[in-house]
Amino acid sequence: MIKVALAGNPNSGKTTLFNALTGATAHVGNWPGVTVEKRSGVYYDKGDKKKENGLEIVDLPGIYSLSPYTPEEVISRNFVLNEKPDVVVNIVDGTNLERNLYMTTQLLEMDVPLVVAINMIDAVKDAGQTIDPEKLSEELGVPVVLLSALRNKGIDELVPAIRKAATSKRGGRSIVDLPLVEKAAAIYREKGIESPLFHAVKALEQDEIEFQEYPEVANEVATLCEGEAYDALVADARYRYLTPLVASSTTGRVKQEKAKMSRSDRIDRVLTHRVFGPIILVLMMFLVFHLTFSEDLFFLGAMGVPFGQSWDGPFNDVFFAIGDDGVSIEGINSIGAMLANFTNGLTGMFTEWVVGLIDGSGAPGWVSGLVGDGVLGGVFAVIGFLPQILVLFAFMAILEDSGYMARAAFILDRLFRRFGVSGRAFIPMIMGFGCAVPAMINTRTLSTDKERTKTIRVIPFFTCGAKADFLIMIAAAVAAAINFDAGLFTFLIYFLGVVVAVASVIVMNKTTQREQVPPFIMELPSYHRPQFRALMIHIWDKAKHFIIKAFTIILLSTIIVWFFSHFRWNWSFIEEEFAQDSILSSLGSFLSPLFVPLGFGNVQAGQYAWTFAVASIEGIVAKENVTAVMESLAGGLGFESFDALIAASGVSVAGLLGFTVFNLLTIPCFASVATAKGELMDKKTYWMTLLFWFGLSYVLGSVTYVVFEWVWTLAIVLPIAAAGVVGLIFYDRHKTKQERAALEEAA
Ligand code: GDP
Ligand code: MG
Repeated sequence: MIKVALAGNPNSGKTTLFNALTGATAHVGNWPGVTVEKRSGVYYDKGDKKKENGLEIVDLPGIYSLSPYTPEEVISRNFVLNEKPDVVVNIVDGTNLERNLYMTTQLLEMDVPLVVAINMIDAVKDAGQTIDPEKLSEELGVPVVLLSALRNKGIDELVPAIRKAATSKRGGRSIVDLPLVEKAAAIYREKGIESPLFHAVKALEQDEIEFQEYPEVANEVATLCEGEAYDALVADARYRYLTPLVASSTTGRVKQEKAKMSRSDRIDRVLTHRVFGPIILVLMMFLVFHLTFSEDLFFLGAMGVPFGQSWDGPFNDVFFAIGDDGVSIEGINSIGAMLANFTNGLTGMFTEWVVGLIDGSGAPGWVSGLVGDGVLGGVFAVIGFLPQILVLFAFMAILEDSGYMARAAFILDRLFRRFGVSGRAFIPMIMGFGCAVPAMINTRTLSTDKERTKTIRVIPFFTCGAKADFLIMIAAAVAAAINFDAGLFTFLIYFLGVVVAVASVIVMNKTTQREQVPPFIMELPSYHRPQFRALMIHIWDKAKHFIIKAFTIILLSTIIVWFFSHFRWNWSFIEEEFAQDSILSSLGSFLSPLFVPLGFGNVQAGQYAWTFAVASIEGIVAKENVTAVMESLAGGLGFESFDALIAASGVSVAGLLGFTVFNLLTIPCFASVATAKGELMDKKTYWMTLLFWFGLSYVLGSVTYVVFEWVWTLAIVLPIAAAGVVGLIFYDRHKTKQERAALEEAA
């Protein structure tokens, strides 16, 4: 099979083309560095599924140029040089031609067949610009095709061009017109190294990796140029070649560039404004949560708008929040709440129907219990929240695809860079709102091990979809207990996660993970209208992930939980609904004293404390389990819902907050723990990370509980916190002094 590598600058559309060619649903994002690991798929011509006729397509992470400075760039460079694809397709963003062709001039130097695909040609046309592919092809000496990966245009020309290029060999060619290039290349050629021109230019530039990989030859080249670095001259030569080339092969460029710049720039003048930027960011996030979770849209109910009465029957709560009397309307539901109520209505009816069938058939009581509470209760508890999570994701995807999330990273960078948190690290962190696993993998785009460690540690604090699940459950319980808006509640908890994350990075940066934060340079992608297809891919991806999980690991966990909550230690079955003396309850009760400081231990929750303990422990397997276990145990114990269990258990709102904070911040699910283990640099860092997650969640959970239960304790907590901050400042000063002294001594 022909092996094709897609290479190009970040955001040039590689992944979009990859998806278009392979029919895959890889993650597309309007910011740099979304793809970190390479990923491959197969393209087949229509109606021809023969393996040998397919093209194996490899999507490489974005690279600005082939002088690598971050891991993603190293991956791409090594792949092209070492794995020798049959063809490299260089994706070039047509709206930013000159800058993107810079890398093309580097790829030209390699001994590999090359096809240049100028992407985003739709946007180029919209701007009234034309690009002449023949002229470019003639000058560059490689085939050039015009493409719109997004609109599926130009693929029919691209594929034959790839096939044709694959049949020929191509020797490298450099457009850098320095006499030294040929001399240096001759040295590489002599040693039988492939792509001598590419290596020669790298050696002239005194590229670090080049000196690591070919120390001897590179040093020989270095003596040739008498220790001088030619990087500026090489870059200059490339641009001197490109500027006239781009000018002669395009029309309407100047005008287009200006128009485009000014549009995105005008928007950015407001959205990334020093003062308004952060405010808009917070408001925007609040709005997203409000539209997803609130049961009182725009707080109309709270402002006293008289809504009147609803019908008294099924699904009366889909559009409106219904009061305790079952008919009076107290507010309009958000989009997410509407969908959730509708789904829950359906699943509730389904469960009732199934349980009715089983009971009617004369099966023993435990069968309907197992099916109703054990299986359906758990699975539906997870699925029931899916609509809201998907709505949240749709909003996030819109913000990301439009280019706004890249601005968010930029704004946060400006706020927190002086404390040692860079914008580069915020990209994986924000991805953590989706799922910690890809987010942790994305930290490979960070340049130092310490920065990666810090970021991986705080990624779980960015509430992921699975955590949103139990958060919604608790928001509903809090709303029921003290009438606090569910949308505002979830927003505040998400916000808390971000605050804890930033604070943790700052503390680590001053203590165990001290380092100078590398500068963050990021090109802001231009804004564009979010694409419906990309949005659907995001949502489908998420939904699939959730549903698969619900029917595998969550289902298994709830069945196990049901089983152990219905048998005593002597394996006698507990007939009645009351599962108090079960195996699980005694195990949970054994652990529950541990949770007393957090407000949901045996002291507070009494005979029901074990349910909270079991849910928290199960949450370490998968966070959806917290919801699934609570709902299923509540059902098994004969309660209407989780809310009813809370009310009966005597756990206060403060205790619920302790429960929330603990489960939000503690050791994340198995999948993220395994990923963290793989991504962290060594065993010790990994164990310290687990300890950090458990310790921090335990302490902050306790503090939350204590402060909300007895407000006066703030008089103790605040001074301790202040002392901590002062201590940290002094420690940092002391350390800085030491480091400076050590540096001077070394000098
Ligand atoms: P990568 O970083 O090179 O993998 O780029 P992506 O495939 O993630 O695409 C970056 C952004 O460009 C996404 O928001 C895409 O929707 C958008 N995009 C990709 N191809 C096209 C295209 O042909 N036309 C337009 N207008 N946008 C595109
Ligand atoms: Mg990509």
